[in-house]
Amino acid sequence: MSHGSLPARVRIVEVGPRDGLQNQTTVLPTATKLAWIERLAGAGLREIEVTSFVRPDRIPPLADAAEVAAGLTPRDGVTWSALVPNARGLEGALAAGIRDISLFTAASETFCRKNINASIAESVERFRVLLEAAPRDAEGRRDLRVRAYLSTCFGCPYEGAIPAEAVVEVCRQLLALEIDELAISDTIGVATPADIHRVIDAVEALPGLDLGSQVALHLHDTRGTALANVCAGLERGISIFDAAAGGLGGCPYAPGASGNLATEDLVYLLDGLGVESGVDLESLIDAGLWFEQELGSRLPGRVIGAARAGR
Ligand code: MG
Repeated sequence: MSHGSLPARVRIVEVGPRDGLQNQTTVLPTATKLAWIERLAGAGLREIEVTSFVRPDRIPPLADAAEVAAGLTPRDGVTWSALVPNARGLEGALAAGIRDISLFTAASETFCRKNINASIAESVERFRVLLEAAPRDAEGRRDLRVRAYLSTCFGCPYEGAIPAEAVVEVCRQLLALEIDELAISDTIGVATPADIHRVIDAVEALPGLDLGSQVALHLHDTRGTALANVCAGLERGISIFDAAAGGLGGCPYAPGASGNLATEDLVYLLDGLGVESGVDLESLIDAGLWFEQELGSRLPGRVIGAARAGR
């Protein structure tokens, strides 16, 4: 039984193979990535962001995007998605059979410029142009599920605190493009539950937005607040949470610090709260311990750490 008015069930979007690996210096063989993704799906993860169709020289750990996508075994009820930075990336993703894509922008103007060399307005305009090339079904509807990451929604390494109004404004523009899902991201892991409430207060009033089915929280555990922030999100009816297996993916602005919320930590919390995720924690831990061996280094997640120590 879930407590109080928490959602009975949530969706976890596993971002380890993309967001986790892109911040690693280690370049893993394609076969190892595929075996890892298989184990993650086997543990019950239903939505996995498997790679990014970036220019191969830009992010060497993800240079094999097409090979990874081609090597995936279709599974009932499992969605493979990929990050797509531009039209060429979309072409690659579509050619590889990907029908769920993610785009990337920010709530901080400076972060957006430094990251994708575009203003926020330019990034949204790029999305509009990009989505014109999306496949259509017989009725003319877009045959492509689109999620947008809004990075730095709570704080920016260059600008500091980000006002909730800035987040709302980007959300408004993305909703106008009929983006299916907005991933509100704490890129540098500065948010506390008060910030989660503040941003949700501002975002939930947007016309045409269904908070429970369209807004994901992408949290980082850099300062140890990710799980507290998940609780705040659950209390507000958020039912989509991003996480990376093992907590893979350091924060690029704080070397050595943990980055992405670890999927095992998230599942442990949800299990304890009686919120269903469909993920089997033991299988997920087994996958993580196996992956550590392949990676040749320890994963930062807490639950993985406890399992490794035999506690
Ligand atoms: Mg991340």
